[in-house]
Amino acid sequence: MSFVFQPPAPPAVAVVGRTERFPVHRIYCVGRNYAAHAREMGKDPEREAPFFFTKPADAIVENGARIPFPSRTSDLHHEIELVVAIGTGGANIGISQAMSHVFGYAVGLDLTRRDLQAEAKDKGRPWDTAKGFDRSAPITAITPAGDVKLDDSRIWLKVNGALRQQGAIADMIWNVAEIVAELSTLFELAPGDLIYTGTPAGVAAIKSNDALEGGVDGLETLKVTLA
Ligand code: MN
Repeated sequence: MSFVFQPPAPPAVAVVGRTERFPVHRIYCVGRNYAAHAREMGKDPEREAPFFFTKPADAIVENGARIPFPSRTSDLHHEIELVVAIGTGGANIGISQAMSHVFGYAVGLDLTRRDLQAEAKDKGRPWDTAKGFDRSAPITAITPAGDVKLDDSRIWLKVNGALRQQGAIADMIWNVAEIVAELSTLFELAPGDLIYTGTPAGVAAIKSNDALEGGVDGLETLKVTLA
């Protein structure tokens, strides 16, 4: 096939223990999947279920990167998240089959222009400029699902060495199987899809030269700095 210009290489994430990389198809994100975070955002998790939004696939940023400070925001927030990497696609996947579609897991940041998100919420506008901006999705290498058990894992984030976010994977309102099943009723999932599964409480603003370090027990630690 020939193109009018050279297409970019597909966005791709490293895989622990493999030389081959994971080619990213789409990035889905879950909103308000931890009750304590829903409450800190002024929402009642008993009354409103989690929901989905997206980021472009090329928003991923490699672990260890120095990220230019995003434009048009004075309230950039960190959201540390468990990321699910889909290896087998499908639509209308049942909860009992969902885990067989998971290739592996990583640690990611759902960077958020909170000021633009607040304006979008206020005006009933979409979240793209708040959530789907360039370099808004840092991610570690993916650990294959068979190599790790996350049931008892903690999720945490430090900024300049100080603990900012802390939670338990078991505290997710929708667990991984429920997320995959629910998402697959809205979109046909494909190999290469990444799902950022929501953030625990403690989100706050970060500024130039901040060093972020976050993890989920059993997975690689994510380390990025803001330029
Ligand atoms: Mn998030």
